[in-house]
Amino acid sequence: MITALPASLMLALIEESLDAVLIIDDACTIRYANHAMHVLCGYAIGALPGSSVDCVLPEAAAAQRRANDRHRGNGAFGKVGESVLRHQCGEQIPVEMKALDLGMHDGTRYFGAFIEDLRPRRRMEEKHAELMAALERQAMTDPLTEIANRRSFDAEAGQMMALGWRRGADMAVGIADIDHFKKINDDHGHPVGDEVLREIARRMIAAARTTDFVARIGGEEFGLLFPDTSSETAIGVAERIREAIATEPITTAANKKLAVTISIGLATLPPGTALDEALGTADCALYKAKDGGRNRVESL
Ligand code: GH3
Ligand code: MG
Ligand code: MG
Repeated sequence: MITALPASLMLALIEESLDAVLIIDDACTIRYANHAMHVLCGYAIGALPGSSVDCVLPEAAAAQRRANDRHRGNGAFGKVGESVLRHQCGEQIPVEMKALDLGMHDGTRYFGAFIEDLRPRRRMEEKHAELMAALERQAMTDPLTEIANRRSFDAEAGQMMALGWRRGADMAVGIADIDHFKKINDDHGHPVGDEVLREIARRMIAAARTTDFVARIGGEEFGLLFPDTSSETAIGVAERIREAIATEPITTAANKKLAVTISIGLATLPPGTALDEALGTADCALYKAKDGGRNRVESL
């Protein structure tokens, strides 16, 4: 038979617990606070009993008083919930209270609570949210040029089409392809090709309007989205993007100046057109531009 343990052992367990433990009476006076509770609130050990619980848990105390006024004993101290603990220095600490009604003893009702500092959990949650946002950004970004990738392009196009068609707006899509890019790699090496890709991405974004969308959708191919844009205006913007590449040679890290051009194919997006269909048309326009001598914009 196992003998019952002395109450002093239970008390030692509660006193030494890493969780903060509190007992109040129905007048909201703190009757017991363990070591961890004093540390959490920044009070000297032994300073809390006798004080009103309003000093450290003002919200929970107010809720408890409201419950007491209605002669229903279990306000904040009768359940599990989040609250705010006030540190002696004034800092507000989010806490979770697992509180219970301890019942009547010598004509007084007592409530107990296990109080957990929520800051470590909140920090973990924030870190997790930041990590998720970073992963999402990564999943939507082309690592070489650091502009939007194909996945991002498809998502943006879907949104643009849904909004545009509802409003009956004109829209255009485009594909820009670097001319004779293989030769740049062959003549100067792949790393220089990468430099060229980065600079072209930068110039395309700078030359496009803020409402346009530019993404790297393939090796040396860029997708363009022109919301609320007529075919004529899209041609004008595409010409400006083409010129931004053609007029100024690209200076490499090794101080080589490379004359690079791009060709652009454009297509309008009539209501109901699938993105792939529009991109197919833009691709035909791009081949027309390549056939026509490159460094040109064609629209179909
Ligand atoms: P065109 O004017 O007809 O478009 O000719 P092109 O040489 O640009 O086209 P082609 O399709 O023959 O070659 C594309 C080249 O792009 C081949 C490939 O090695 C290069 N390329 C694709 N992705 C990358 C990349 O990430 N970095 C580098 N440096 N080159 C790449
Ligand atoms: Mg290509
Ligand atoms: Mg090319």
